[in-house]
Amino acid sequence: MRKPIIAGNWKMYKTFDEAVEFAEAVREKIPSEDKVDSVICAPALYLPTLVDIAIETDLAIGAQNMHFENEGAFTGEISPAQLSAINVDYVILGHSERREYFNETDEAINKKVKAALSHGIVPIICCGETLEEREAGQTEAKVSSQVKAALEGFTDEEVKHMVIAYEPIWAIGTGKTATADDANSVCGKIRETVGGLYGSDTAESIRIQYGGSVKPENIEELLSKEHIDGALVGGASLNVDSYLALLNSVR
Ligand code: 13P
Repeated sequence: MRKPIIAGNWKMYKTFDEAVEFAEAVREKIPSEDKVDSVICAPALYLPTLVDIAIETDLAIGAQNMHFENEGAFTGEISPAQLSAINVDYVILGHSERREYFNETDEAINKKVKAALSHGIVPIICCGETLEEREAGQTEAKVSSQVKAALEGFTDEEVKHMVIAYEPIWAIGTGKTATADDANSVCGKIRETVGGLYGSDTAESIRIQYGGSVKPENIEELLSKEHIDGALVGGASLNVDSYLALLNSVR
């Protein structure tokens, strides 16, 4: 039985004061981590403060990106060693916005996944197709090639601890959600891809989220599907009530 994981991706939203206010408002209301893993992935600038606010609560804090090197002359970057030193638990890797606007490659993402694991940070590895790719019938090929590239060179045990987020690019921030059946079918293919690489035991253990216009109104149906183990949520994670409603949708 895979535990659901619901992660908010705040992207480049919220001022420092708004971030603190949000974390203070939700921290005592987070459902038990026996039931659901509740994560907020915040701008890097706020991570130490949010980790402090969330300490000894069931709220976990994640970053939205990181470099793969531990240190070096990489102006503007943040390293896995720096994140783990402040007790960040998760990191989103290979989000489509990073692939598109910051030229992140499959190869760099694979290095980042390795770096995250070696520092005990759980990677949330994103994959997903564009609208053109979907219309050309290439969804499965695209997603499975991204997953194969990101997951190259690990042990079964390592892969079991990763999280994959399937985010069709055309559904991000557009209000268009994949139907729950379509999302489940692609998540099932991702599980098959993982099974082909690391065996069925690993495929059954890895958690796969859906992301793209998830909100309190549609999350229950998505989570009811066999292969959808949670959600990676942008817009609807920015509001306290809606974030808590997403978490409380887990039965
Ligand atoms: P929205 O939930 O705003 O569509 O964003 C999805 C996303 O990109 C999460 O990483």
